[in-house]
Amino acid sequence: MAKQIQAIRGMKDILPRQTPLWQFLEDRVRSVLDRYGYAEIRIPVVEMTELFKRSIGEVTDIVEKEMYTFADRNGDSLTLRPEGTAGCVRAGLENGLIFNQTQRLWYQGPMFRHERPQQGRYRQFHQVGVETFGLAGPDIDLELILITARIWRELGLQGLELQLNTLGTAEERGHYRDRLVSYFQSRIDALDDDSRRRLEGNPLRILDSKNPDMAAVVGEAPTLMAHLGEASLQHFEQLRQGLDAARVSYVLNPRLVRGLDYYSRTVFEWVTGSLGAQGTVCAGGRYDGLVEQLGGKPTTAVGFAIGLERVIAMLESSDVTERLSRPDVYLVMLGEAAAREGMQLAERLRDALPALRLVCHCGGGGFKNQLKKADKSRARYALILGEDELVRNEIGFKPLRGEGEQQQLRMAHLQERLAQAIVRVNDD
Ligand code: ATP
Ligand code: MG
Repeated sequence: MAKQIQAIRGMKDILPRQTPLWQFLEDRVRSVLDRYGYAEIRIPVVEMTELFKRSIGEVTDIVEKEMYTFADRNGDSLTLRPEGTAGCVRAGLENGLIFNQTQRLWYQGPMFRHERPQQGRYRQFHQVGVETFGLAGPDIDLELILITARIWRELGLQGLELQLNTLGTAEERGHYRDRLVSYFQSRIDALDDDSRRRLEGNPLRILDSKNPDMAAVVGEAPTLMAHLGEASLQHFEQLRQGLDAARVSYVLNPRLVRGLDYYSRTVFEWVTGSLGAQGTVCAGGRYDGLVEQLGGKPTTAVGFAIGLERVIAMLESSDVTERLSRPDVYLVMLGEAAAREGMQLAERLRDALPALRLVCHCGGGGFKNQLKKADKSRARYALILGEDELVRNEIGFKPLRGEGEQQQLRMAHLQERLAQAIVRVNDD
């Protein structure tokens, strides 16, 4: 036998058993964004490498060591997108969507980073991203956070904590950066190799270190808040008031940073304790300097990205999967006449009840055998159509999950009974 070829490490198949959960997640997210007036944009999976170098920055984990970069047949350097913001800004500029107007955009799809695969961290993963352009105030920052909070609510997720910080403007950060560098230099012995390297190019990222040995030296570092000017303080204050008014609770996390100059003011993350070290399911913030850095006119911008694998992991540990992938009913048909009539009955039920999830037994066989299949399908009810039922214009209605005994229903009452059953299935 020929040797089988395996998938690439860190790139996972999403199997039929899991796709109902993905579709549920994607549908709910799309519905929320649609209701807030956001429009979808679809952008290529591959871009010029230069785009990511210029937008994400040379001294970042992504550009330094995580990108899938290759030369195409013309010798151009291309990169599989590690995130969506850069491509979104590029597409917006190229198609005249950004200058002198406001945009509320979203996208979704696979992203690629060559990281060490582990729980919640893959080499191909999926994000839903939102980017808004031309809106400068704290009101849009608030709107984005309200959208994310609604997404969690409508997915039935609990236990997510909103962490919030402000980075001020590039200028305010410049002063702070000097203070920070001298502080870390005074404690250079406590820094790990990564942090020593960052001290030169990207000292703010040291605050974001995941190394537990660094916790003390990071915890005692000076914070940016003391270096903020009046306008930045006010922006932050107004956002906080908006969150309070909307009853969205948050914790201030002064160590929440992004290392690059084009970030400004608001940054936020949604974090769960239930996924171990990979607990951030959504990261967002304001990046007023990026459009200009990519060749556009100065344009304010703010967005977020949700890591879908991590949300899926949270959904998997709730009971939602079980409810989603399960048929409502499995139609058992005994004898040739019933098999013929049953297929037509099923079609009529599907016409009448669009939400109904109905599986027809195929391949004939006896009662016991068909009922076993019904049970294996995890359906909530079996419908049983045999010769007797056909003659009497009835159908057997058998709960399969311990909700009482089999009943014989008049055919005329079947549709109504199933309508009740679906409501129950979707609501509980
Ligand atoms: P981390 O610090 O965990 O590496 P990041 O700062 O690189 O995260 P972002 O670039 O802000 O992450 O991406 C936004 C979200 O995308 C993350 O919060 C996370 O949910 C998800 N994400 C990022 N990298 C991966 C990955 N390799 N596998 C799965 N999800 C990821
Ligand atoms: Mg990362």
